[in-house]
Amino acid sequence: MVDALVILDGATDPEPSTLSEAEMPALRRLRDGGSTEWVELLDPGVPVGSETAIASLLGWRPTGPVDRALVEAAARGSEGPVRRVDLDGGHRLLVFGDATLESEAITRTWPPGAQPPRILDRGTVIIGAPGAATGLGALMGARIVVPPGATGRPRSDLAGKRRATIDAIRGGATRVVVHVGGADAAAHDRDRSAKIAVLEAADRTLIGPLADEIGRLTVCADHGCDPATGRHLGGLVPMVRWSAA
Ligand SMILES: [Zn+2]
Repeated sequence: MVDALVILDGATDPEPSTLSEAEMPALRRLRDGGSTEWVELLDPGVPVGSETAIASLLGWRPTGPVDRALVEAAARGSEGPVRRVDLDGGHRLLVFGDATLESEAITRTWPPGAQPPRILDRGTVIIGAPGAATGLGALMGARIVVPPGATGRPRSDLAGKRRATIDAIRGGATRVVVHVGGADAAAHDRDRSAKIAVLEAADRTLIGPLADEIGRLTVCADHGCDPATGRHLGGLVPMVRWSAA
């Protein structure tokens, strides 16, 4: 049977948590009929971010920072309009567009870090917007699918991700990983109600239908993100495992 994992990025936060406030009947059904384990995805001292925590979920536990610029570039296709510019001290710019360096839209600088190893195969399909999950998947050897309308933002098209998941399974995938970035993005925006809305939409549009379709599902957060501060939180994250059989 296919291994299916839904990652709710940045989903945990301090009590009373958005996860406990959100109406999530499908996740409750999975919890009641399955098991919940609180897991530590990151070792002490490792930066708390999706590029480290999702790497750990995919089977490679980083011992320090991960090269996020490399990950972001890989998510957008190394041959595409995104490229990296190496700077002093190992920092990198991620550059969009094909204009000269002076006039390019420079989105961000990222600290140096490790390159993820190629330990996955094409039987693993990562579904999400261009970002940490899909970039890690590409670098680690998985197949990545970016459905139209997937943005990683609160209004991302989750139904498109559901359809892409079913298509991947029908196409022979042995493991599917669906990434939902909107809860983390809403928390960074310090918008608690938007975070709750993303969690509820994920429950309704992804978690329930995928559990019914596949008969087996794991749901977890990669790390926390506090909508009061807009900052990431480390520590334990819940992993709910459920199987119909
Ligand atoms: Zn974040």
